[in-house]
Amino acid sequence: MSQLTQFDVLALRREFPILQQEVNGHRLAFLDSAASSQKPRQVIDCLEDYYRRYNANVHRGVYKLSEEATFAFERARGKVARFIGAASPREVIFTRNTTEALNLVAQSWGGANLKPGDRILLTLMEHHSNIVPWQMIAQRTGATLDYLGLDGEGRLVIEELDRKLDERTKLVAVTHQSNVLGTINPVAEIAARAHAVGAVVVVDGAQSVPHMPVDVKALGCDFLAFSGHKMCGPTGIGVLWGRRSLLEAMPPFLGGGSMIKVVELDHSTYADIPTRFEAGTPAIGEAIALGEAIDYLDAIGMDSIFRHEQELTSYALERLADVEGLQLYGPTSPVERGGSLSFTLEHVHPHDVASILDGVGVAVRAGHHCTQPLHRHFNIPATTRASFYIYNLAEEIDRLAVGLEKARKLFM
Ligand code: PLP
Repeated sequence: MSQLTQFDVLALRREFPILQQEVNGHRLAFLDSAASSQKPRQVIDCLEDYYRRYNANVHRGVYKLSEEATFAFERARGKVARFIGAASPREVIFTRNTTEALNLVAQSWGGANLKPGDRILLTLMEHHSNIVPWQMIAQRTGATLDYLGLDGEGRLVIEELDRKLDERTKLVAVTHQSNVLGTINPVAEIAARAHAVGAVVVVDGAQSVPHMPVDVKALGCDFLAFSGHKMCGPTGIGVLWGRRSLLEAMPPFLGGGSMIKVVELDHSTYADIPTRFEAGTPAIGEAIALGEAIDYLDAIGMDSIFRHEQELTSYALERLADVEGLQLYGPTSPVERGGSLSFTLEHVHPHDVASILDGVGVAVRAGHHCTQPLHRHFNIPATTRASFYIYNLAEEIDRLAVGLEKARKLFM
């Protein structure tokens, strides 16, 4: 593998306390960042600092601690907005995670705008988070679902858009990067074509926002959802970005404290965006620490992060090609994909592969990765998945390959 010149990965790894440990007598090789990333000390310290020094509820108090918490919480919203190129922090809604963000759009926008005969277009590679909410709202409104298919390498069959997009299509929801195949989808093209028939475009950015520069203006989408915990931030905090004109016309998703203007006995009026969609006490410290994670990623540079992962992916594609009986799913060209590599190993169950790898300190995931329709498409019940992030090394890919050879020999 070529020398990584963008940033010093060995120095960066020292900033992640969890990576310093041994697992089963081996230095931990964490290859499961697509499920959840590890956190640098800077983010952990930020969360701790909030709870130690200025923990207080936001937006309500007139005392110093509450003002400090409110200031930091709203500053984090501003950081998120800048990070994704949003026109205004008001377009950034804090949610628990990607899943909640997608449910918010489905229930609020879908509930207000979909009717019998309308169509929702998804793709076969979607995470269950970008399928089930649409099934639920389709059942409620009488809309129907359709799916864009995949070619043999797990790329979207874009030509199908000609057939599947028409004036009945009211919404297109697509993942920017597949959590299983690694495929990076041409979202800007899909958005332009969807807008031409008047459809709204929702992008699942759970696997793109942590790994590459993402700008909502360049994507041309209407909504973008992502999770803090996959981008060096804490769990319990996610983001829905939405185009201001759409958000302003949408009814609330959850009712309760904070999201109201006036509450009468039989009805209420609602706050402006984004507060209208943030009922109850938010994940304050977690939002502030997500802002810190953004500072951390920004300092490295999203371009450098993307290049580093592309180098790791290229190397992994070469290295895993040497493992006999290994079938890889997803594009074979590293420029069309990110660093989520799912595979099967002949004669070895994916869970056994993952257990054997755990035995040598290599953490990977096995199962359907919340993509049952995708696995059904490939006619397999499960895969093993290795996924990379800023702190991974070529040497860890070597250890993955050696572990896979071990698994193969054990089950031969
Ligand atoms: N979408 C994609 C592509 C994902 O990879 C994931 C998580 O793995 C999700 C959505 C759901 O994210 P969360 O569980 O943080 O809501």
